[in-house]
Amino acid sequence: MTNPSYRIAIIGAGLGGLTLAKILQNAGYTPVLYEGEASRYVRPQGGTLDLETHTGQRALELAGLIDLFYEVCRFEGQSSKTVDKNGKVYHEDHDLLPTAEETSRPEIDRTELRDLLLDSLQADTIRWGHKCTGAVPIDDSRYELYFENGHTDVVDLVVGADGAFSRIRPLVSDEKAKYSGVSMVELNITNAEELFPELVAYNGPGTVYALSDHKTIIAQMNGDGRIRVYLGFKSDVSFLEALKLSHKEPEIAKQTLLNLFSDWSNDLKHYIICANGEITPRRIYMLPVAHKWENKKGVTLIGDAAHLMSPFAGAGANLAMLDGAELALSIIHTDNHERASREYEKRMFEYARKASSETKENMDLFFSEGAAAKLGALMNSFQE
Ligand SMILES: Cc1cc2nc3c(=O)[nH]c(=O)nc-3n(C[C@H](O)[C@H](O)[C@H](O)COP(=O)(O)OP(=O)(O)OC[C@H]3O[C@@H](n4cnc5c(N)ncnc54)[C@H](O)[C@@H]3O)c2cc1C
Repeated sequence: MTNPSYRIAIIGAGLGGLTLAKILQNAGYTPVLYEGEASRYVRPQGGTLDLETHTGQRALELAGLIDLFYEVCRFEGQSSKTVDKNGKVYHEDHDLLPTAEETSRPEIDRTELRDLLLDSLQADTIRWGHKCTGAVPIDDSRYELYFENGHTDVVDLVVGADGAFSRIRPLVSDEKAKYSGVSMVELNITNAEELFPELVAYNGPGTVYALSDHKTIIAQMNGDGRIRVYLGFKSDVSFLEALKLSHKEPEIAKQTLLNLFSDWSNDLKHYIICANGEITPRRIYMLPVAHKWENKKGVTLIGDAAHLMSPFAGAGANLAMLDGAELALSIIHTDNHERASREYEKRMFEYARKASSETKENMDLFFSEGAAAKLGALMNSFQE
């Protein structure tokens, strides 16, 4: 077992960093978790996530939180429907039983999952409002950390869990997150059951994938009663700017978006017409498939910092949590932290390469000719 008195700093209180902190704490370690945002309430955490058995759920099991997860997750949220722009259905599975069976990927809202992890940590584990600006090696293995608010710290191991544009990644790798070729606009339909029961009936309790003409409408029922909609576009990096969507004029923004889907079915256009909440444009970034680095003493990466990928296989959050769990287990069960990070990286590079490559294939499929038929066939093959 690595000496619990080693000072471990985790940069970033996302799902990866929180999972790592929780499992280390359970084993008697006292990691410090530095988070750039001022509190957990600063920013809405985003949509619903499906947690996969061997990654996200396994991490929660190792963290001792799986029973709490099963109390709040939504098994019915796994159902999905795949259609083309005319509404032709290629796959539909609305009848999943609510069980914790081996293949299940139950859904949970991201805020609920993050709160579950945050509430499980000892008080004062997280230093909110500490945005890391960089880290410098000060001797053979230790790092000095610098923060925007003037704080500094010296640690034996710094873990970059700070997401897509990690400040810790440059310590081990020259790779930067690059635009994936896909942009999205996220729409929110709040209080959907009461205000738009027909749309809720069309959507069902899970996800609708509507794919045609190198565009997507992906609509997900969330636990808080909203439908979150992702309009996706295969496009160059300046596409969203050119749309000139304004928060101040949501009806004009919606009309601009409707014009891009003018020949799609009325059921699908309703996802734009009914939008009554935040409209958020997002460019999707990724690291190269199979991103890896030479092991370095005193520093490693987990989650998006290590293997940022597009959301088209629903893998990123699951892997971030698995990374947190795998690194924690290595630290706990290996006799020195240098070997611990090397062994963790070896395992992580292998599973992340596989997931990242599948994700890239999925992204290409979603925006290809005949995408709905191809995705429908893939989904049907999982049920055979
Ligand atoms: C539209 C969309 C949909 C997605 N859907 C899914 C899905 O269905 N399933 C799935 O598994 N994945 C999904 N993902 C991917 C998933 O969101 C990420 O892979 C996951 O959040 C990565 O977790 P993380 O802990 O590595 O990083 P993050 O969640 O990005 O957390 C990083 C944390 O670090 C903090 N931070 C950043 N910089 C600093 C700094 N310099 N100093 C201190 N703190 C810092 C941030 O504030 C944040 O709290 C989706 C992504 C997108 C964009």
